[in-house]
Amino acid sequence: MELQRRALTSELLDPRRGFELVQAQVEVRWDPLTRHSARLVVSGALMPPNDFDLEAFAREAQITCPFCADRLEAQTPRLPARICEQGRIRRGDAVLFPNLLTYAKHSSVSVYSPALHYLPLERMTPRLVADNLAAQVAFDRAVLAADPDAQWVSINANHMLPSGSSLFHPHLQGSVDPVPTTMQQQLVDVPTAQFDAYLATERAAGERYLGSSGRVEWLASFAPLAPCELRAFIPEVVSPAELDDELVEELGAGIATALNLYAEMGFQSFNMAIYGAPAGTLGYPLNLRLACRSNVRTVYRSDSTYYERLHWEAAVDITPEELAERAGQRFRR
Ligand SMILES: [Zn+2]
Repeated sequence: MELQRRALTSELLDPRRGFELVQAQVEVRWDPLTRHSARLVVSGALMPPNDFDLEAFAREAQITCPFCADRLEAQTPRLPARICEQGRIRRGDAVLFPNLLTYAKHSSVSVYSPALHYLPLERMTPRLVADNLAAQVAFDRAVLAADPDAQWVSINANHMLPSGSSLFHPHLQGSVDPVPTTMQQQLVDVPTAQFDAYLATERAAGERYLGSSGRVEWLASFAPLAPCELRAFIPEVVSPAELDDELVEELGAGIATALNLYAEMGFQSFNMAIYGAPAGTLGYPLNLRLACRSNVRTVYRSDSTYYERLHWEAAVDITPEELAERAGQRFRR
C-alpha cells in the first residue's frame, strides 16, 4: 500500500528577516483507511506543555464532585435492574453507572476510582485502566443481552476540560446505540484487506510502527485526526463486548503506557475512542484512537480550529514520526 502524502511549499516576504523572500513547508497526508486528510505544519508552538496547577484546581472542584467517594452513592444514577441488579458495575476500584446526561440509548460513565479525584496521566497504571475497561466491557455485555436493538458499542474518554469533559474527576464513557457514529460507519466500510495492508505497510516501514503487545498492535497515526494520535488494532475482535479478560489486561496496559507517554511529553488532556462494530461483522479489527488535547490554562489556545471542526482535517505540529520516536520500544511486549 502506498501511503499518500504531498509536500507543499509557500513563499512569503518575511518581516522578521527584513522582508526577505523565504520558503516554508507544509505536508498534507491522507489516512489510508478513511481517506480523511491531515496537515503537518512546522511550528513547534501549537501545543505548549502543561504549566497549570492541576492539583490546586482539583481541590477546588472536589468540594462538590459527585464522583468522589462520599457523594457517588447518593448523586450518581443507577442502572435499571434488567441491565444490572446491583445498579452499578464495580471492577477493582472502578465504578460504572449511567450518564445523567443521555448521549446514547445506553450511555455510561465509569470512574477509575471514587478515591482518585486527581489522577495526572503519569499516575495512570495498567491496573486502573484495565479495571475501568473491564467495567465497561461488563456494561456492554449486559446491554447487548438486554437490548438486541443496541449493537454499536464504543468506549471513550474526555479527560480534562479542553477535551470536552464537564467533570474534573477522571472517568471513561461508554455508548451502546442502535446506530453507528459517523466514524464507526466509515471504519466498518473499510475492507478487511485495507486494514491488513495498512498494518503490513507500517510494520515494514517501521518509522510509525510501535509494536505489538501480543494481540494488540500500536501505531502512530500516519494522518492524525488530532495531536499525537496513537492507534491500536485488535484483529479478530469486532466489539469491546468481545474483549476477553486477557485482552482487557493487555489493552489496559497499552493505554496506560500511552497516557504515561503523553504525560512525559507535557500533556494532561486527551480523548479516546474504541470503535466497536456489531457482533458478527466479518473481518473488522476492533481499533482505537487516542489523542492529546490542549492543556488546561486560564487563557489557552484550543487545538480544535476551523481545520478540525469544519474541514475535518487536523493541523498538527508534532509529526507522527516524532511521536513514534518519543514512544520508542515501550509498546512492544
Ligand atoms: Zn471527584
